Amino acid sequence: MNVAARMGRLGTESAFEVLARAKALERAGRSVVHLEIGEPDFDTPAHIKEAAKQALDAGATHYGPSAGLPELREAIAKHMGETRGVPVTPEEIVVTPGAKPIMFFTILALVGEGDEAIYPNPGFPIYESVIRFVGGVPVPIPLREATGFGFDLDVLERRLSPRTKLIIVNSPQNPTGGVLDRAQLERVAALAAARNIPVLTDEIYRQFLYEGEFVSLLGMKGMRERTIVLDGFSKSYAMTGWRLGYGVMPPALAEHVTRLMVNSASCTASFVQLAGIAALQGDQTPVARMVAEFKRRRDLLVDGLNTLPGVSCVRPRGAFYVFPNVTGTGRPSAEVAERLLNEAGVAVLSGAAFGEYGEGYLRLSYANSEANLKLALERMRPVFEDFARRRS
Ligand code: PLP
Repeated sequence: MNVAARMGRLGTESAFEVLARAKALERAGRSVVHLEIGEPDFDTPAHIKEAAKQALDAGATHYGPSAGLPELREAIAKHMGETRGVPVTPEEIVVTPGAKPIMFFTILALVGEGDEAIYPNPGFPIYESVIRFVGGVPVPIPLREATGFGFDLDVLERRLSPRTKLIIVNSPQNPTGGVLDRAQLERVAALAAARNIPVLTDEIYRQFLYEGEFVSLLGMKGMRERTIVLDGFSKSYAMTGWRLGYGVMPPALAEHVTRLMVNSASCTASFVQLAGIAALQGDQTPVARMVAEFKRRRDLLVDGLNTLPGVSCVRPRGAFYVFPNVTGTGRPSAEVAERLLNEAGVAVLSGAAFGEYGEGYLRLSYANSEANLKLALERMRPVFEDFARRRS
């Protein structure tokens, strides 16, 4: 079958591919520690599951409005006001199956053929993939270890052009765990506002912040009318498999994004949306407990990685990933990741899977038990010792 030429421009997320290979090794009898996939190992809190069961029993099994149930949009608007300090109305909210469609729909709605879109590199691979897919020109901003993996704002300014139709920022960030501070975001806001460029701010890891305060672009001067906030339930409430996310955007854009929902998923599952209300309005201690546990794991993993030969790892301030520098091995990241999977039974991702500026790094998710993180560190040591021997 001949597929359309645009399919050749669509990328992928290698986490799912590595997961499939790791599972194949497990089926062949090998033991694998999974540090490749970005999802909390915690279960969804019981009161959220209970709300979904009740919603099913009450008959929430039908189509709903494409932009989301009014009661969930209300709850999200209130939540946005509380967490971003900006009053938001339900008309500004579109609910989607997971947060990923907000990325897809925003790029589809704002980036035309030949338009430029700025995105972080290394970054979530779907940004670049979808920019290319819609015929846009992806313009990377390198995130450098030396600057805490923040946006290089001078580079950002130089790369803006009359054809720039979108800037994407992500903080706390996947894959580096880097966080943009207030001063950095204010400069992004000033540049975007002065040139009337919309900004997609991916805040899915907002709650996974281990030091400092969370800052959103939404409340910054001149940003209300040109900001699209992407957020959702997958990470904060350990609900990855439920598929529930949302975007907050100016009402005129929300209408276009809703039209894209009408043309694709129709709507998000109704009982899942009702469970989302329980997540936002219910007990938040499970979130705090998970975040505290993740902070302990981050420290264990960073400290352990820094004892391995050829590896150096900065302590990221957010998300649940570490991004160790493995240039000390003298080998490409993909080869290091490959040997760790095949010889040590530790599944990690090559930094290059997140863009060209990720070469020289690995991404490890610490959404795994302390015992498994210790096991992974133990298993990785002989592989890195072997790299060191070959180098000397
Ligand atoms: N944005 C970033 C930076 C992510 O890492 C992810 C998931 O890995 C998403 C968005 C998508 O989240 P969801 O599972 O809700 O679609």
